[in-house]
Amino acid sequence: MGFLLDRHRDLPAYVPGDHEEGDGFVRLNTNESPYPPSPGVAKAVAGQIGRLQFYNDPDCTALRAAYARVLGVEPACVMAGNGSDQVLFLSFFAFSDREHPIVLPDITYGYYDLFAAALGIPLHRRPLREDFTVDYRDYCGIGQNIVLANPNAPTGYALPVSEIEEIVRSNPRNVVIIDEAYADFGAESCLPLIRRYGNLLVVRTFSKSRSLAGARLGFGVGCPSLIAQLETVRSAVDLYGVSRMAQAAGVAACEENEYYMENCRRIAKTRGLTAGKLRQMGFDVLDSRTNFVFAASPWISGAQLQSELRARGILVRRWDAPRIENFCRITIGTQAQMETMLRAIEEIRRERDAGAKR
Ligand code: PMP
Repeated sequence: MGFLLDRHRDLPAYVPGDHEEGDGFVRLNTNESPYPPSPGVAKAVAGQIGRLQFYNDPDCTALRAAYARVLGVEPACVMAGNGSDQVLFLSFFAFSDREHPIVLPDITYGYYDLFAAALGIPLHRRPLREDFTVDYRDYCGIGQNIVLANPNAPTGYALPVSEIEEIVRSNPRNVVIIDEAYADFGAESCLPLIRRYGNLLVVRTFSKSRSLAGARLGFGVGCPSLIAQLETVRSAVDLYGVSRMAQAAGVAACEENEYYMENCRRIAKTRGLTAGKLRQMGFDVLDSRTNFVFAASPWISGAQLQSELRARGILVRRWDAPRIENFCRITIGTQAQMETMLRAIEEIRRERDAGAKR
């Protein structure tokens, strides 16, 4: 007997990167940080274990204050959620429905599609340019809600703040969601704009630059009135959302912010070296501002490269989608992990050359 409502039957499934933990794989497929959380995080989480019989603070007061301090904004400008996916879902739920569609690029973060499908929100897609960049003019003065990942995923390209501002300024009656999941790795953040524009929601996560993917911590940042509107919805569906352990982990991470900023700089440096080596091997590598590179090779298809790397214990991500089927998205790990990956690609190339000669 099926009880699922008809309207849910055809919900698409989000296919995340393979989750192979602790089995010797080099995991370059889910954009996690290769670096562990800072030392204070373990202590802070351990300190909560003896208090788990008590509910957590539903308002995330200490966490919001700590992250607000890092960002240089008021705590009332910050909402905390269970990962930025939850914040994104809640912002779709709060501001869009069948009559209030969302406009977004045709190639972007895949989970937006699922949220919209689950909530019955129509999506209107604007194609990326031929070179995979977003043309900001496609979003100016359109009078509809907008979601943009900036930098975009999986391309890694970022729009300058001046172009984001033009989008936000020219759609004053609509919410513009800027998903800055990867901004800490070298993009310009549009956070300073929240003081001037009440329709801008910036979404951030501790999953990438803060090494806390498994803790599930995400944030919505905007003017206090917009955040209060979002809180109305959050408290109706998930009052105690962020666990006691995750809140404590987040506060500790904010107190050790410099550790994470240093990791971001290391990752950006490793990204530059990796992109340079891939280009030397003939790859087309998009100019990334994130902790991944999106790269295609003229001598091997994306699908073959992914499977040959997997056979060597290295996981990368790929989509069977028009225009990007030949690209692999490769997370930037440690320098040593990237060297392992580059050596594997060299080996794949040598084997192909040898096979071709036979
Ligand atoms: N936005 C983008 C663009 C992402 O790539 C991801 C990671 N999959 C997320 C949001 C969600 O991250 P999390 O829920 O772990 O905060």
